[in-house]
Amino acid sequence: MTLRPETLLRPMPGGLYCPAGDFWIDPTRAVARAVITHGHADHARAGHGAVLATKETLAIMAARLGARFAGASQALAYGERVGIGGVDVRLVPAGHVLGSAQAVVEKGGARVVVSGDYKRRRDPTCAAFEPVACDVFISEATFGLPVFRHPPDADEIAKLLLSLSTFPERCHAVGAYSLGKAQRVIALLREAGYDAPIYLHGAMRKICALYEAMGVPLGDLRPADEMLAAPLTRKMLAGAVVVSPPNALNDAWGRALGDTVTCFASGWMRVRGRTRQQVELPLILSDHADWDELTATIAELRPGRLWVTHGAEEALIRWSRAQGVPAEALSLAGYDEDETGESGEAPP
Ligand SMILES: [Zn+2]
Ligand SMILES: [Zn+2]
Repeated sequence: MTLRPETLLRPMPGGLYCPAGDFWIDPTRAVARAVITHGHADHARAGHGAVLATKETLAIMAARLGARFAGASQALAYGERVGIGGVDVRLVPAGHVLGSAQAVVEKGGARVVVSGDYKRRRDPTCAAFEPVACDVFISEATFGLPVFRHPPDADEIAKLLLSLSTFPERCHAVGAYSLGKAQRVIALLREAGYDAPIYLHGAMRKICALYEAMGVPLGDLRPADEMLAAPLTRKMLAGAVVVSPPNALNDAWGRALGDTVTCFASGWMRVRGRTRQQVELPLILSDHADWDELTATIAELRPGRLWVTHGAEEALIRWSRAQGVPAEALSLAGYDEDETGESGEAPP
C-alpha cells in the first residue's frame, strides 16, 4: 500500500504528530511518545512518557531538565533505525548543536525529513549536516530572508582577537547562549590559537563540562564567579575572555566585570537596529542556516515538497516555488519565540 508522504506527519497544536506510529516530534506539550531533535528548550521539554533522541541530546536534557525529565528514554545513534508502530525512524546529523539530529520518518516508501534546526557550515563542536533525499523536507526559516548572509566564522573570531590585542587591559565579555553558541565560540577561539584561560559564568559550566565529556575539547576553562568574589582576583579578568549568557551582561553580574568590551555572538547581529546599543563588538555567529545555506540545501535535496516552519517563511516559499519545488508554510507555534534566548537564537 502506498502512503501519501503528506499524511505521515501532521501539524497539530502540540507539534508534529505521526498518526501511523503514534509519536510526536519536538512536541510543545507533554505526550506519551516523543522524538526530540536537539536540546534547545523550545524543542526539548520535560514530562514526556518516552523520549527517543541521540545520547548527546538525552545527556543535555538530563543536565538542563533533571535526571527524571521523561518516564523513559532511548538513545539512538546517528544512522541507526528503530521501528515505532510500523514507522521507521532514524536520526541523522543536523549540524546545529552537539547531538542535534534530523528525524527521518519512513513508511510504505514515503519519506519525510524533519530537520529541526540546522546549519551547513562547519562547526567544530558537532557533526556536520547530512543531506537525505526525501518526499517532504521540513525546514526551519529562522534566517529565511536574502538579507541574512552570515560571514565566515573565522572573520568574526579574528575581530574578537584583534580587539583583545588592541585593548589588553579590558575584559572581553562575550554574550552567547549556554547551549551550542558558547561552546562554539570557545572552540573557534582555540582553533584560532587562543590558549589563555577562558572564564565562564556559572550558567555555562554544566553544558561546557558535558561537551568536554562527549569529546569536544574546549581548553582551559575557569569559573568567573569565584574571580568576581574578591577585588584582587577580579583584576585578573582584565584582558581575559569571559563567556556568559547574554542577559547576565546587562545586570549586576556584568557590571561587576568592570571595564568591559561587550560582545554578543548571534546571527541577529547582522541586522542594523537589532543590535543592542551596549554591544560594542557584535559577532555574527549563528547556529542556524543563513539564506544561502537554506537555498543551497533545497537546491541540493530537491524534495518532492518543502514545508517551511519557524521563521521568515514567505521568501523561502516563493524562492522554492520558482525553482519548481512545491512549498508551503507549516504553522507550528511555540518554537524560537522565547525572547530570553533560552530557545537558542531568539532576536535580542
Ligand atoms: Zn535550536
Ligand atoms: Zn528551533
